[in-house]
Amino acid sequence: MQHLFNRWPQVRNAVSSAKHIALFLDFDGTLAPFRRRPSQVKPLGPTLQTVLERLSGCDRLYGYIVSGRPLHQLREVVPLRNFKLLGLHGWEGLRRPSLVKELRLLRKAKRLLAEGLSPESRIWVEDKHLALAVHYREASARDIRQGWEVVEDILRTVEPSIHLLQGEKVWELLPRRIDGKGPAVSAVLAGLPRSTLPIFVGDSMTDESAFRIMPRGLTIHVGEKLPTQARFYLRNPGEVRTFLWKLDGVLRLAQ
Ligand SMILES: [Mg+2]
Repeated sequence: MQHLFNRWPQVRNAVSSAKHIALFLDFDGTLAPFRRRPSQVKPLGPTLQTVLERLSGCDRLYGYIVSGRPLHQLREVVPLRNFKLLGLHGWEGLRRPSLVKELRLLRKAKRLLAEGLSPESRIWVEDKHLALAVHYREASARDIRQGWEVVEDILRTVEPSIHLLQGEKVWELLPRRIDGKGPAVSAVLAGLPRSTLPIFVGDSMTDESAFRIMPRGLTIHVGEKLPTQARFYLRNPGEVRTFLWKLDGVLRLAQ
């Protein structure tokens, strides 16, 4: 895998010759560095906000933020007018059939998690209404092993309507019909001109399904640890910010 900036001439050509561009950005770990809890992550800083506003002012660019956060939370940390926000891995903001049975099963799973997880384990459950995120960033290896056993047991009782999505130090229990960023991004691209160049930037396992559906897109993994389907990588959110400014420069030159 290549560092994106080492291949910049190639990337610049692809961008400047594209008639339309769809820019998909993940939020946590991609635009914003991780904090111990998602609630501690600060909203976009002024530099990022400026560059994203500039990008969204470009006629041939469609901008999307695709996050695992629920939409109402995403709106608080990404106060952008011209980017479309897609919450819960693309489910919120696109398609919303009702998920009555799944909601009932998630309530059951929440009850079982409260009974099964030890309060001392530093594993905690975030209730996103249509999903339960079991965060283990702060837990010890032993607690993670025990926590995983609890989650596995619960999964057996709520499958197949509920499935597991592995995130960055988080196990997420979701309705199976919320099938991840790949299908969501496919649905968005199906509504855009065929000549659109898709760009996707993301850091975790939940972004891999999006990388897979755009084999000719500009796929960028953030971080150096994970095996990934992306073609390029950037080291951290700081480099993502640099990339966005470079992208803005190319688009403005080509205008
Ligand atoms: Mg992320």
